[in-house]
Amino acid sequence: MSRVVVVGGGIGGLASAALLGRAGHAVTLLEANPWLGGKSRRIEVGGRRIDTGPSLLTFVRVWEEFLRRWDTAPGEAEEVAGLRLKRMPEVGRYYYRGERTSLPVQEGDPWRAAWERFARIHGGLGPEVTRLLTADPLDRRTLPALGRLLRVYGAKLTTRSYLDGLPWLPEGLKEILAIHTLNAGVAPTRTPALYASMPAIMAADGVFVPEGGVYEVVLSLERLARRAGVEVRTGEPVREIRRRRVTTTEGEYAADAVVSDLDAGRLERLLEPERKPAKEKLSCSGVAVYAALREELPAGVAAHSVVLPSDPDTLYASLEAGEEPRETMAFVNYYRGGEVYPNDGGTLAVLLTAPANGRKYGLGDPFVRREIERVSVAAGLQGAATEYFGEYEVLDPAYFGAWGSAGGALYGTVRPFWRTGPLHRPRYSDRGWLWRVGASVHPGGGIPAVLGGAMISTGRLIRSLVK
Ligand SMILES: Cc1cc2nc3c(=O)[nH]c(=O)nc-3n(C[C@H](O)[C@H](O)[C@H](O)COP(=O)(O)OP(=O)(O)OC[C@H]3O[C@@H](n4cnc5c(N)ncnc54)[C@H](O)[C@@H]3O)c2cc1C
Repeated sequence: MSRVVVVGGGIGGLASAALLGRAGHAVTLLEANPWLGGKSRRIEVGGRRIDTGPSLLTFVRVWEEFLRRWDTAPGEAEEVAGLRLKRMPEVGRYYYRGERTSLPVQEGDPWRAAWERFARIHGGLGPEVTRLLTADPLDRRTLPALGRLLRVYGAKLTTRSYLDGLPWLPEGLKEILAIHTLNAGVAPTRTPALYASMPAIMAADGVFVPEGGVYEVVLSLERLARRAGVEVRTGEPVREIRRRRVTTTEGEYAADAVVSDLDAGRLERLLEPERKPAKEKLSCSGVAVYAALREELPAGVAAHSVVLPSDPDTLYASLEAGEEPRETMAFVNYYRGGEVYPNDGGTLAVLLTAPANGRKYGLGDPFVRREIERVSVAAGLQGAATEYFGEYEVLDPAYFGAWGSAGGALYGTVRPFWRTGPLHRPRYSDRGWLWRVGASVHPGGGIPAVLGGAMISTGRLIRSLVK
């Protein structure tokens, strides 16, 4: 049995700790914040539950594979995790230049035929993407999946160049597909062509919300970690990592291996506090407004909506330059009372894509006011959504930057397109004892990428500890 210290209790750190504990190692997980889950957090606003950060669980086969790896007896992980997933009726409703559509595009919509053609090419690629997300890149069994994907994209390397090469795809639908790369924090010119497939795969395989809210994923991982014997310590920030020694505000931990779930820049500062951080381009951040509603929104407002800017290219350019955009992409999440959360009334989350400027924002800020007005018009509300607000909370780049990446960048620094997504080979370990998990090694894919990366990295660590 080896001693392993996991630094950071986000989804990546928890997943890694649960697998390491299950493999029989003595694991201590150290989390700086009083809550587990990092970007995924549960708060109470006006007496109502709201889960902040991620909203949707996609590529659920990755979650199933995680449970399979934790299991020693079939079904045990599922029982301990206790996660009950609910499939949403659609990926979301999209608003672009006065047009409204859903994914999958519905019967009777002028884009339906083009969507069906697109979905026929991409909708069935879920198993291939899942394999690349969960299997070690050095495993030759990933080659058939890789081959099938590369045949789809041909010589087109980026999401933008691939979509631009499909003349039969209406421009509006193209932009709706392309904007999903902001889920990776960057423009479609910065992600591999594979990202073009994601909305079609999500439409075919479903998007899910756990009963009770997405934070149930964190609670499930915590249960799996604790059942595996992991010692979980919250409110204990790590100050320094030197060789196999981890120093916190409370004391020192010796370890055979250290696993970091931290943003790459933050980890570097713990390893070499004297080194000056390099100035790098950052992925996007967000301004997230969470409100308990005084009354429900009118019938017909969807659970998940995306309001696009009228000129997505201008938005991508602003984000690259670190400037506030004139119009942004807004993700809107509306749950009526009793739907998803056990609340007695509705909640609304408006997530505005913003530059990683480390700033604080409030409802009165012109950028926030402008965007909430735009979202309200798109959703067909009488007046601004804020008129429905009871208590609310705003999480901004300053909040995300306090314990995450510089400036509150949600996915760390910007990388070239070939170093994002499941096609690249990250540096999982160095120094012989340091291992990495989390969005820093698998940027872009949200929870599935983080879970998959934790499985790959931790799998290698477990094999190395056996030797
Ligand atoms: C607004 C928003 C919306 C999103 N939407 C989705 C979605 O719908 N679907 C999806 O799949 N993904 C979504 N994501 C992405 C998803 O939330 C992340 O990919 C995932 O939660 C990242 O997990 P992580 O473990 O890599 O990192 P983090 O959650 O950042 O965890 C890192 C942890 O390290 C801790 N830490 C930092 N410094 C120290 C220290 N010195 N000592 C100890 N601990 C430390 C932090 O407190 C934190 O808990 C969204 C993210 C955001 C912010």
